[in-house]
Amino acid sequence: MATHSLLILPGDGIGPEVMAEVRRVIDWFAANKGIAFDVSEDLVGGAAYDAHGTPLTDETLAKAQEVDAVLLGAVGGPKYDNLDFSVKPERGLLRLRKEMDLFSNLRPAQCFDALADFSSLKRDVVAGLDIVIVRELTSGVYFGEPRGIHKEGNERVGINTQRYTESEIARVARSAFELAKKRSNKVCSMEKANVMESGILWRDVVQEIHDTEYPEVELTHMYADNGAMQLVRAPKQFDVIVTDNLFGDVLSDCAAMLTGSLGMLPSASLGLPMANGKPKAMYEPVHGSAPDIAGQGKANPIACILSFAMALRYSFDEGEAADLLEGAVEKVLADGVRTADLMGPEGGTPVSTTEMGDAILAA
Ligand code: ATP
Ligand code: MG
Repeated sequence: MATHSLLILPGDGIGPEVMAEVRRVIDWFAANKGIAFDVSEDLVGGAAYDAHGTPLTDETLAKAQEVDAVLLGAVGGPKYDNLDFSVKPERGLLRLRKEMDLFSNLRPAQCFDALADFSSLKRDVVAGLDIVIVRELTSGVYFGEPRGIHKEGNERVGINTQRYTESEIARVARSAFELAKKRSNKVCSMEKANVMESGILWRDVVQEIHDTEYPEVELTHMYADNGAMQLVRAPKQFDVIVTDNLFGDVLSDCAAMLTGSLGMLPSASLGLPMANGKPKAMYEPVHGSAPDIAGQGKANPIACILSFAMALRYSFDEGEAADLLEGAVEKVLADGVRTADLMGPEGGTPVSTTEMGDAILAA
């Protein structure tokens, strides 16, 4: 059986605390399911700056390029606020994403039944929700030229350019179709082809990739404004949504609020396939380093644990192990085990980060 190589970058703040629970989960799978991992650990962000004067060393980057998957905790904190921009902790993360060319950002929105009352929507609209938004991450209006603010006559004009090439659209479309094949075989592509040229091209290319390479997947197209409405009206109609950088930014935050706490949300960023056919990949919780609760044992480790579950499913082909892990999370939540961020107005006694880890391992 193949050994899965994994680079762990705990980072700063609550990063190391939540990652410690993932290490225990990894050890559990190795001991009880005979899954072989080759785990290495390194510094990133403020921790790397403290040790090496840079938020990401070339050696760490080289290692990240080689492994089957990178798992990152969180970077940053008030201690580093006054550093020069070029060595800020966040630069380490951005450099990783850029050098690894991670163009496809997967943000699942999954609503565990036990937490359905935390949603901003009614329970029956979100209970059992399980969708993934695939956001193009390295192009579009965030990078298009020309851009800038200049003077026209006696007033200033702000300009950004939404620009997509066929190949940029094609690769993120493939990543969405591949994902759909591991789920419910259903993709909805969102753009504004009614008002944007890039939207017309987006729709064209996604359809073409579908027809030539993934005809077995069900594909629909939707204008992004309607998509936003449908996401809050009836989100369970979707499975995989693929969209551009800007719409993806907005729609994935919107989807996140369907599910409740920031402490629950995992993410994956994928690049081109490596020699083994699997995409380059980095997995990380959506939350940040949470300096306000760091070092107090209060952090919810579930977002990081579910990020590892995504690595099991999408990088290691260990779908059964991923199901087992997600099932354990669902069970402890159903049993009423709650970290502080998951306490409702009715109160109760929250468990610590480690106790949440204990409960998940027991389940
Ligand atoms: P970043 O700029 O890195 O995205 P942020 O300022 O958006 O960070 P977070 O660090 O994600 O913020 O924290 C936002 C709030 O959510 C904080 O009050 C934090 O304590 C809380 N929080 C974030 N992650 C968790 C977690 N895993 N468990 C419990 N609370 C969390
Ligand atoms: Mg943030």
